[in-house]
Amino acid sequence: MISSDIFKTWLIDVYKKNDGKPLASSSADKYIGAIGTISQHIDKNLYESSVEELRNIISSDTSFIEKNDRGNNMYSSAVERLIECKIYIENNMPTAVLDYQQRHEKEVASYQQHLFISPPMGNPKPEKINAPDSHYIKRDPKVSAYVKQRADGTCECCHHAAPFQKLDGELFLEIHHMKPLAQGGSDTVANAIAICPNCHRELHHGAKRDSLIEKIYLEHTSIERE
Ligand SMILES: [Zn+2]
Ligand SMILES: [Zn+2]
Repeated sequence: MISSDIFKTWLIDVYKKNDGKPLASSSADKYIGAIGTISQHIDKNLYESSVEELRNIISSDTSFIEKNDRGNNMYSSAVERLIECKIYIENNMPTAVLDYQQRHEKEVASYQQHLFISPPMGNPKPEKINAPDSHYIKRDPKVSAYVKQRADGTCECCHHAAPFQKLDGELFLEIHHMKPLAQGGSDTVANAIAICPNCHRELHHGAKRDSLIEKIYLEHTSIERE
């Protein structure tokens, strides 16, 4: 979801007027003000609305149309900018997430060589990555590295050996968070397990996933239910 801050950044840094020039900060503030006013007027936070919803509001919300007519189309041009901003962000966000994931994998690989004296703290409340409208949650590479070392090449769910060796020689296991990060789960070694791809798919999509989850909590006393 985007905020007025992100909208303002986009208006100033990305958006160009018809003459190709960037928008002045004071003009950006007028758009922000218009979105705030019209959100209150139609009792809907427009930053939270989808592109389709925004288009419907412009074309068919009678209370919007009425106020927009009186305001010389100030509100429809603000909502049109907001639509452009959302489309821009939706199409540019994946690169930011992809970049983050690649960096993360490299960091995990470096920490794989690390000798942990005690488990890394991790993060009880991991944050979303700092990219507009991103839902991808940051994870601590030390937690992933530690959990993979703890598994030592054996799936922490089915206890079979990792299915293959990677190009760098490491045995292939994936990190799974018992309580998903997206549901407020912590990024800590007590909430993460290293498992084979089969178990990982089954834990996410399998009909027997609930009993599999119980089995893991039962077998690993260091994994804590959150
Ligand atoms: Zn497994
Ligand atoms: Zn998972």
